[in-house]
Amino acid sequence: MKRFLLLTLSVTFTLIVIGTLIFGPSFVDNQINQISPHPPFEVSEKAQKLHKDLLIGDWHADSTLWNRVLSNQYDYGHVDIPRLQKGNVALQMFTSVSKSPRGQNYKSNETSTNDNITSLVILQRWPIKTWSSLTERVIYQASKIHTLAKQDSQNFMLILSQSDLTEFIKKRNFNSDLIGGLLGTEGSHALDGDLKNIERLFNEGFRMMSLQHFFDNKLGGSLHGTSGKGLTIFGQEAIKEMLRLGIMIDVSHSSENVVQDVLDLSHEPILVSHTGFYGHCPSARNISDSLMKEIAKKGGLVAIGFWKAAVCDNTPKSVAEAIQYGIELIGAKHVALGSDFDGAVLPGFDSSELIAITHELLEAGVEESDIRLVMGENMLNYLKKNLAN
Ligand SMILES: [Zn+2]
Repeated sequence: MKRFLLLTLSVTFTLIVIGTLIFGPSFVDNQINQISPHPPFEVSEKAQKLHKDLLIGDWHADSTLWNRVLSNQYDYGHVDIPRLQKGNVALQMFTSVSKSPRGQNYKSNETSTNDNITSLVILQRWPIKTWSSLTERVIYQASKIHTLAKQDSQNFMLILSQSDLTEFIKKRNFNSDLIGGLLGTEGSHALDGDLKNIERLFNEGFRMMSLQHFFDNKLGGSLHGTSGKGLTIFGQEAIKEMLRLGIMIDVSHSSENVVQDVLDLSHEPILVSHTGFYGHCPSARNISDSLMKEIAKKGGLVAIGFWKAAVCDNTPKSVAEAIQYGIELIGAKHVALGSDFDGAVLPGFDSSELIAITHELLEAGVEESDIRLVMGENMLNYLKKNLAN
């Protein structure tokens, strides 16, 4: 009897382990990257016509953090190639997350807090070297995009240089289903504390780097950390190395002091790849309007997110309102889209439904020429000026 009980227990345990390994990753992805349920969006004929004619770009999606095969369409998560095509997206920045603190919040996170991503990495059975190295984590995520570009070249192209960008635009004129992808990091703790890893990551295809995520790191303070400090000496060295290589700098999640320090140090424009405007949505996720003005003055871009902490709601209307606010504050040439899709946020729509933003912008009376800029032309122009050669 005892033997039978032991056998039953070990079989049950084995089945639970196998079940977790097989179904765990998609279960977690499905739970974390949901969309608010909604009836189909109302879209005017004018919006349909305009949307088809737009070049659309998004500066921020964390899709490579999950075990989805991006050439397939899923009924969970926010981004995959078929849904980008349906949304008429041309350019998609894929940002690699490498560490996020347990109990993550927008107000205050200790650097020493346990990391959520480690258990996700193990659950998703990523290579063992990614379990302890943050640099390896982002390189592994980049490898998924390199594989996608090789295996699905009809639908996806990785853009690494100005000549790639020119080739992409040429190809897209004949194939409107072609998506151009770029690689970025989220938080420079991904350097594992070593400046040499900036060049290593550049060689792996990363063309945009953000400095902080949810906690203070070796480069400086996070907007959601505990110190609020500016750039450290190491952070200044890192910025110089990024500028030397032509890496685009993203100050999303950085403390206001870091943003100011980068503005003082960098002769190049800078990005806020996913954010809202504090004056439109006074949340702990957003930095001050005066800093946004300085970013714009230096030729930078501010990309608007699609979730509540950025724009105070998650509807296409709230995104359109934030965009309209931004156009008034810093000018249409400095506002862009930065969804934060697949970034453990709850948007009100996925990448296939971006037409709802076009509709709301038209409804709000935004000029067609401004809509073109914000929805993607600004991203293309920024890349033409600031992507490495
Ligand atoms: Zn983020």
